[in-house]
Amino acid sequence: MEIINRRQRMFSVSRTLRRENKTVGFVPTMGALHEGHLSLVREARRRCDIVMVSIFVNPAQFNQKDDFDKYPRDLTADAALLAQCQVDYIFAPEADEIYTPGFATFVDVEGLTDTLEGSSRPGHFRGVATIVTILLNTIRADQAFFGQKDAQQVAVIKRLAADLGFETEIVVMPTVREESGLAMSSRNERLSAEDRERATVISRGLKAAEHAFLAGETGGEELKRTVRETISAEPSIEIDYVEAVDNDTMVAVDRVRENKVLIAVAATVSGVRLIDNIVLPPGQ
Ligand code: AMP
Repeated sequence: MEIINRRQRMFSVSRTLRRENKTVGFVPTMGALHEGHLSLVREARRRCDIVMVSIFVNPAQFNQKDDFDKYPRDLTADAALLAQCQVDYIFAPEADEIYTPGFATFVDVEGLTDTLEGSSRPGHFRGVATIVTILLNTIRADQAFFGQKDAQQVAVIKRLAADLGFETEIVVMPTVREESGLAMSSRNERLSAEDRERATVISRGLKAAEHAFLAGETGGEELKRTVRETISAEPSIEIDYVEAVDNDTMVAVDRVRENKVLIAVAATVSGVRLIDNIVLPPGQ
């Protein structure tokens, strides 16, 4: 496994692999790896000749400096996990290797970034779309793997790849959860054991909405209320939003009809902001 810090080296490796007709699977991450990330890496390993993982805490997608500063970082532990998963290359550039002096080009995906994380974290998706564009262009993988945990990010990246004509296929993998139901997240590292327990009301709220839907409830307001009521049982958790939106356009819906509907939650537990979601109808 080679750890690459320079973009020029990454370009040259990618070029050689293309010339050798090797299929490349790419998993972009911000590090502090957990089973959620590793599920993407394993799928890439299963499908492709060569697996590349990027580890880059992207300053452009953090709208709060404090959140960026506190984001967990441990390249040594991450590299050990990735070596166990038979990863071939890690791309771990410093910020100034990506955002070079005079950097002035940003990618904005319009419309579907107006809601949910887009409205709560101004500039977040501009940062995400910009770094994903840079990474897809540098690595030119056959397939890139993303988690459903960040459902709006998936919609944004699919739109971006289609609009800008990236050949890389976008592969989406299900959310990996702790046994308690809590969606795995690098930010969970910042939670105490008690807070992790408290945070399980988020996934329980989403499960309750899924049960209500399976019992015949299709109203957006009713489903959102079910989620809210479950989460409110834990007063230390502050809800940022509970929304029901079309899974592709991210536009609010008032009822689950034929299109897939995303029920998405953002909530803060002891200063740590967590997101989670489900798609209705489930299991598709
Ligand atoms: P991050 O390091 O948070 O930027 O995440 C890197 C990739 O891992 C993104 O595509 C995430 O959606 C995905 N990911 C993060 N957490 C999970 C999870 N619990 N299950 C599945 N994928 C995840």
